Amino acid sequence: MKKIYGVIGDPIAHSISPAIQNDAFTHQELDCIYHPFHITPENLSDAVKGMKAIGIAGFNITIPHKTAIIPYLDEVDELAATIGAVNTVSYQDGKYIGYNTDAMGFYKALSDQISNLTEKKILVIGAGGAARAIYFTLLSHGAISVDITNRTLEKAEALIADCPFEKQSAALTLLQAEEKLADYDVIIQTTSAGMSPHLDAMPFSIRNLSEGSFVSDIIYNPLETKLLKEAKQKGADVQNGLDMLVYQAALAFQIWTGITPDTTRMKNIMRTTLGGK
Ligand code: NAP
Repeated sequence: MKKIYGVIGDPIAHSISPAIQNDAFTHQELDCIYHPFHITPENLSDAVKGMKAIGIAGFNITIPHKTAIIPYLDEVDELAATIGAVNTVSYQDGKYIGYNTDAMGFYKALSDQISNLTEKKILVIGAGGAARAIYFTLLSHGAISVDITNRTLEKAEALIADCPFEKQSAALTLLQAEEKLADYDVIIQTTSAGMSPHLDAMPFSIRNLSEGSFVSDIIYNPLETKLLKEAKQKGADVQNGLDMLVYQAALAFQIWTGITPDTTRMKNIMRTTLGGK
């Protein structure tokens, strides 16, 4: 019998996950289908019960349900529970189990590019949901020196206070981070500043960026933000948000099927869908 997978969110029409996951199922010759479901917050509890009742084998969760879904699951993996957000659910032995492949996907994407991440001095820009997953994941993998800067300083302070792992972290204002940018080996941009349609936005000036640094911007629309363009001009190595997006999808597929999908193929579909070259 065909297995049914999906993604739930509000809104959901924009999601590129169905294109990627359906292609991966076809490519692996699996009799599965992946469908977008528009679920509003007031229907979340009923939706999860209904999905279980009709035998949905697994699903992704996008905005605004990544935290709200946790009480409706049977189990949550340790890292996802610590972060407090789930983006992938798998049906195993009668239970819905939650994972955070955004976090794991980001770590895989970054560690593919940088060796000795644990020895680097890292700056995370932003303190929203994505920053939380990234900050917790870096520390859970042994990174120690990770500062956070955010427009609203209190949110950066709260994130550091919330994180249970060993750390040497400071919360900085955007201005403070801008001034001492040259101190960091790796800079991870997680705010929505620069995301389409606000193509000219940047969280702050990167005039102090050092030449050999690595800048990762998790935005994938556009594929090259103003921040990445300027960082490249200053001699930094850069990474856009496509790798994180690919790996979070690939890890979800792997959790559901036990098969590692072709990530180059996934990346090409995403790039085409997003209008890149
Ligand atoms: P979020 O929870 O709403 O957090 C937004 C963050 O951006 C906050 O820190 C906010 O600061 C900051 N911010 C917004 N506008 C700003 C501006 N003009 N200047 C400076 N800071 C600004 O959002 P999120 O879920 O973390 O997502 C953030 C970005 O990550 C989005 O662009 C999203 O598309 C991207 N993302 C990518 C992937 C991927 O797979 N590549 C996965 C998840 C998210 P305040 O706290 O001061 O409001």
